[in-house]
Amino acid sequence: MASTKYPSAVFDVAAELQTHYGDFNHYNLKNPLDELLFIICSTKTGEASYRSTYRSLKETFPTHHQIAEAPAEYIARPIVSGGLSNQKAKAIRNLLDIIVEKFGEPTLKPLRKMSNEDAEAFLLSLPGVGKKVARCVLMYSLGRQVFPVDTHCWRIARRLGWVRPTHKDKHCAPRDMDRLQSKIPPELRYSLHVNMISLGREICTPSHPRCDECPISALCPKTGVNE
Ligand code: SF4
Repeated sequence: MASTKYPSAVFDVAAELQTHYGDFNHYNLKNPLDELLFIICSTKTGEASYRSTYRSLKETFPTHHQIAEAPAEYIARPIVSGGLSNQKAKAIRNLLDIIVEKFGEPTLKPLRKMSNEDAEAFLLSLPGVGKKVARCVLMYSLGRQVFPVDTHCWRIARRLGWVRPTHKDKHCAPRDMDRLQSKIPPELRYSLHVNMISLGREICTPSHPRCDECPISALCPKTGVNE
């Protein structure tokens, strides 16, 4: 039964999207350090490209200890086809140094024993890790009921009228992520996140959403679609 704390539209949208897309996990990973490396590989590149660069990274460095001992220029080589390889390699190098210093080895498994707040705070302390990335690691790898707001979730939530941006340029500020997360019941966060990504890639695209084919068209006020 729907809790009165949350708008009923959220439950209806979640149910429709789950029926339509079936909670596809977008290839995310169960090990939190792998998930973090996977997300770094995915920065500013398409799905096929980042899946292949991540595979190549893992083939070159099959263990976390091997990648933790590699210089940035060696890390950059297997991920070159995904673009920004030097930048991504430096980010990986810096993250691993901090993680090893904190936990004594290249692992994020200690996060499993932390509260959501403490684990998120640790992830946010890593260079280049913002709320979206931290919450992806928490949700996909640690099974926490958080709601990472990526570009698809943000666009669709605005069109659904669930949230209004606090910034004039309409980008999603960290406080907007918190506001949106607070409107989604914890038990629906994973499902809504993965299914909104599927919807955003396929139908609710940035410039030409195909509302007539959308499974949640009847539930959507289409806020700002024609702006
Ligand atoms: S009805 Fe249109 S604007 Fe609303 S979610 Fe579907 S595609 Fe996006």
